Formats: sequence, structure tokens, C-alpha cells
Amino acid sequence: MTNSEYAFDPEALPSGVMTAKINELAGFLLKTSVWPATFGLACCAIEMMVTVSPDNDIARFGMERFCATPRQADLMIVAGRVSQKMAPVVRQVYDQMPEPKWVVSMGVCASSGGMFNNYAIVQGVDHIVPVDVYLPGCPPRPQMLINAFLKLHEQIQKSPHIFDRKAIAREVERAAMAEVPLIESKGLLA
Ligand code: SF4
Repeated sequence: MTNSEYAFDPEALPSGVMTAKINELAGFLLKTSVWPATFGLACCAIEMMVTVSPDNDIARFGMERFCATPRQADLMIVAGRVSQKMAPVVRQVYDQMPEPKWVVSMGVCASSGGMFNNYAIVQGVDHIVPVDVYLPGCPPRPQMLINAFLKLHEQIQKSPHIFDRKAIAREVERAAMAEVPLIESKGLLA
């Protein structure tokens, strides 16, 4: 039998049959059923709650089910500033979520400490958990959060390593731990 006899011919498929890469199919299924954890830290959480209102309707993305238990959630929206006291709790909630899982850092406070440049607030939640999408603003409007969801969906759909998420997330965390803490970094003065 020659190689040409093995060649794939899409025209030879019966009608109603379509082909897809397993990775892309998994990405499509995952991105259309992302369930956020019910989890809010500060004022940004009010805007997060509004995304489930009829005006914004995140049910159209299959995301309306905010889970009361992290064990059924695969998206953590860090909505608000993270105090040093809450940091271990945030990490515990993240660890209780099953893989694959994603994190959106909502607002300047969660992303960088924002205007709270002091010892009580974690200067960026990526010191605690690996972040997939950073959302600026104070507070970001629900429409901005929906835009962040769409960016996350793109990432999930296009990720060629959907089944290696755990190893990748651990690698990102190791790199973050090796970074100079912001409090010690001197920026342009270094
Ligand atoms: S970014 Fe603004 S709205 Fe969000 S937690 Fe910080 S102060 Fe509150």
C-alpha cells in the first residue's frame, strides 16, 4: 500500500461529518463552560456581581454559575485588594479548585496593589497565584470584565498545552518566586 492511499481527503467524508483537533475541541468545551468561584475581596466585587445581571448576562457564555465551593469552580476572579491577612486564604481557595483552572486579576489593587502602596496590601496577586488576565481600572466596569472573559476564552481556545496546564502554572509560579519582590526593587534607580 502506498503513502498516497493513506492521505487524508476531506472531500471523501460523508456529509454531516466534520473534523477537529482534539486540543481545539477540548478548548472549545472548556471555554464555553467556565464556572467562576464565588469570591470577592473589596469594592471591585460589586462590579463583578453586576456581570450576572440581565443587562450584562454572562449566561450567554455559560458562566452564570458562580460556585459556592471552589471544588466546582475553574475560574478565580480576584476582585479587590488582597491584604496580607487574606493572602493565605486566597491561595487556599486556589489550591482547592480542580485543574485546569484560570485566574483573572480584576482592578489595579489586585494587579499591583494600586494606590495601597503599603505593607498591609499584597503588591500584586501574582505573588500568590499565577494570573492569566490582568484587568486595569478602579473599578473596572462589568463590560470591561466581560472583555477580560473574552480574552481568557481566546487564551483557552488557542492554548496548545491545555492538558499541561498544571505543569505550566507551577513553572510560572516558580519563576514568580524567583523574582525580586516589588518592595525590594528599585526600578530605574537600580
Ligand atoms: S481597584 Fe478600586 S474599586 Fe477595585 S478594590 Fe481597588 S479601590 Fe476598590
